[in-house]
Amino acid sequence: MMDRLYLVIPCYNEEEVLPETSRRLEAKLKELIGAGQISQDSRILFVDDGSKDRTWELITALHQTNPMMEGLKLAHNRGHQNALLAGLMTAKDRADMVISMDADLQDDIGAVNAMVAQYHQGCDIVYGVRSDRATDTAFKRGTAQAFYRIMSFLGADMVYNHADYRLMSRRALEGLAEYREVNLFLRGIVPMIGYKTATVEYSRGERFAGESKYPLSKMINFALDGITSLSVKPIRFITLLGFLIFSASILMLVYFLAVHFLGHTVPGWTSIVVSVWAIGGLQLLSIGVIGEYLGKIYLETKARPRYRIETLLTHDPQ
Ligand code: UDP
Ligand code: MG
Repeated sequence: MMDRLYLVIPCYNEEEVLPETSRRLEAKLKELIGAGQISQDSRILFVDDGSKDRTWELITALHQTNPMMEGLKLAHNRGHQNALLAGLMTAKDRADMVISMDADLQDDIGAVNAMVAQYHQGCDIVYGVRSDRATDTAFKRGTAQAFYRIMSFLGADMVYNHADYRLMSRRALEGLAEYREVNLFLRGIVPMIGYKTATVEYSRGERFAGESKYPLSKMINFALDGITSLSVKPIRFITLLGFLIFSASILMLVYFLAVHFLGHTVPGWTSIVVSVWAIGGLQLLSIGVIGEYLGKIYLETKARPRYRIETLLTHDPQ
């Protein structure tokens, strides 16, 4: 019996791309089945992340007419990471290996063959890695690069230029299920699971239809989430900064006392005002960083559900 593959595709308002995406993915699965790489009953699971357009109707229609296609509807929009997690956790009990990718097929689906081949070589996690970012705008490329630099500086173990296009075996997914954090940043957690891993390179294309669901504001939120959910280094920097400034003020005190006793008067208004503002700003910034973590802890202690499944359309007996 060959191993069963599930493709998990999070979709948010993707009515424009779904028909084409489902066609291409179906062809890819059939090719792999034909080549004897995966089992006959491999499937595609579309996760509707609370879309407001006709996405769920399209998924329902695909499920009705095609025994390969399944659907999972979340009760409301929970964001890409949570939608992906919902799909992975649903596929975990049905599949031997799961590949996650975006609905817009910006990630070259040709890399699926290499991922499955690595799985057969005994890998539990196979990361899809972009070989170039030629099709991204210079701005997106620059911000993304800065993000990876900052992350590795802060000590987060992330795979460079890897987004959420990856293969995971069933036991890797079972490992993932043990991470219960609400502030979900999958590409930071997955490398913590361990097991044998590999990377597969691909080139990233442009969205063939529709618009990005990741505007700048969401990107910034995502980056901040990534940093604060993986690392406590920013808080340590604040401590260090506080120590440095305190040491500097002691030195300044010594200097000013010396100047005072030597009989020079200090005009000093400018320096006082500047330092008051500088220290005030630093303090506010530091409190803000600590507040970020406090907010995270608050949310984690609440342990709210990360997603809620409304409907599951499957061809398997439930
Ligand atoms: N997505 C989602 N929920 C959201 C936003 C996006 O499930 O709230 C999905 C979206 O349908 C797509 C993937 O996440 O499959 C990546 O989104 P997009 O292509 O818009 O991001 P970009 O490639 O521009 O970073
Ligand atoms: Mg995209």
